[in-house]
Amino acid sequence: MNPDLVAVTALVSIALFVVGLKRLARIRTARSGNALMAGGMLLAVVLTLVEQGGIDWRWIVGGLGVGAAVGVVVVVRAQATQMPEIVARFNGYGGAASALVALSLFWAAVVESSSATSALDALGPVAALTGVLSVVIGVTTLSGSVLAELKLRGTVGDGRIPVRSLVMGAALVGALALGVLSVTTSDVLTAELGLAGLVVASLLVGVVLVVPIGGADMPVVISLLNSFSGLAAAAAGFALADPLLIIVGTIVGAAGLILTQIMCVAMNRSLLNVMIGGFGGDVAADTSDYVSITSSDAEEAAMVMEIAERVVIVPGYGLAQARAQTAAYDVAKALQALDIDVRFAIHPVAGRMPGHMNVVLAEAEVPYELLYEMDQINQDLPQTDVVVVVGANDVVNPAANTQPSSPIAGMPILDVATARRVFVIKRSLSPGYAGIKNELFDLPNTTMLFGDAKEVLDQLAVELQQVAKR
Ligand code: NDP
Repeated sequence: MNPDLVAVTALVSIALFVVGLKRLARIRTARSGNALMAGGMLLAVVLTLVEQGGIDWRWIVGGLGVGAAVGVVVVVRAQATQMPEIVARFNGYGGAASALVALSLFWAAVVESSSATSALDALGPVAALTGVLSVVIGVTTLSGSVLAELKLRGTVGDGRIPVRSLVMGAALVGALALGVLSVTTSDVLTAELGLAGLVVASLLVGVVLVVPIGGADMPVVISLLNSFSGLAAAAAGFALADPLLIIVGTIVGAAGLILTQIMCVAMNRSLLNVMIGGFGGDVAADTSDYVSITSSDAEEAAMVMEIAERVVIVPGYGLAQARAQTAAYDVAKALQALDIDVRFAIHPVAGRMPGHMNVVLAEAEVPYELLYEMDQINQDLPQTDVVVVVGANDVVNPAANTQPSSPIAGMPILDVATARRVFVIKRSLSPGYAGIKNELFDLPNTTMLFGDAKEVLDQLAVELQQVAKR
């Protein structure tokens, strides 16, 4: 292929990624940003396959067809509420793809090659080393992401691994040692066994990494796995000497690391602390000792809200689960019609994926100007007449400030208890993701509105709309 054409096509692809990423930063432009990045990815895949040469075009078309079909079927079949699990799975696919690229490189260099040379001799030290790294990071991303998906789905709980750091260290050193063995040997059987061992040890690293992380620390590990998928791709890019893959992988890796840092700040944890600590593993919730729960219904809540000046709505995972975002916006619009100031307070780890609340509220077309970050709104909460907590729990749990032994201790929260009146919409007194009791429910200024978030908000909107008509 003409080298100038390759360079220009690669540049177009990279430009699509960069512009797309920039557009993702704003809700209004995110949809087109996503489309631009998907286009850049398609261009990059086709260019790489054509440029590498020697691949029958039928394999290329077949691969694109199968990949596109899997993507479309997975996303079309999924409920919108399953999006966090799908994001976790796609991280895993990214890691697996990079690992397969590196493994196929070794396969071609050693197993299929007629000359008895090692991968190191055949590929050179840079390709051999980065190829091993790509397999280790990619396969770790795969097993960690599959486990993260199962945890988000609730199929698998948090666990404890005895002497975890030792097991993790042994698996990591073992993976690297087997990697070095498989690229330095010229014996085909030893190379094959070494590669198989490398994959198994890397699978173990991912499992040991994610198994004990639970409580409220999952956002950190999910964004870290996202970053890993990019780093695995960048390493595969070095192994293939493909600048396009290096650049794109580095962009994803860097974006994931920035997100990880944001999630660490949101949790008030250092990355090391999360990785080593395995916070919040098996703290059982004891919901039996709530002493002064007050509950009411939408009618009474509407009567309190209609005389308020300022209302803040706090969405959480339960809002996304109940698909209650439109109902929440209906309540906000009904309040605005009564000249009441209404805002949405967004906690950075609310929901089950970074940016989850922004995504669901954007779906209901809640104006961006009504969304306030935690830092912006916390100072206004003491002057707020009513806070309506919709399916949120951990992100408003005062235990983060009051109980040093709590799995969420130190996590900044939306301090809704400081508002004059708090209504909490949820179905029961069940705990949130961290599995702990919430003192907020027992406070004298808190009233529970038990029920499905969408049903309660619908009733609330109707009540408030009737007030406006009077
Ligand atoms: P929580 O998980 O703390 O609480 C959600 C609450 O929603 C539950 O207590 C549940 O109570 C309620 N709920 C569920 N379904 C419904 C429904 N249909 N109607 C009404 N209520 C419902 O959510 P938060 O958003 O407060 O906190 C997020 C948690 O998830 C944090 O611990 C965070 O660390 C963690 N996490 C976040 C990730 C991210 O990237 N954002 C990723 C992974 C984990 P009930 O059953 O009684 O209705």
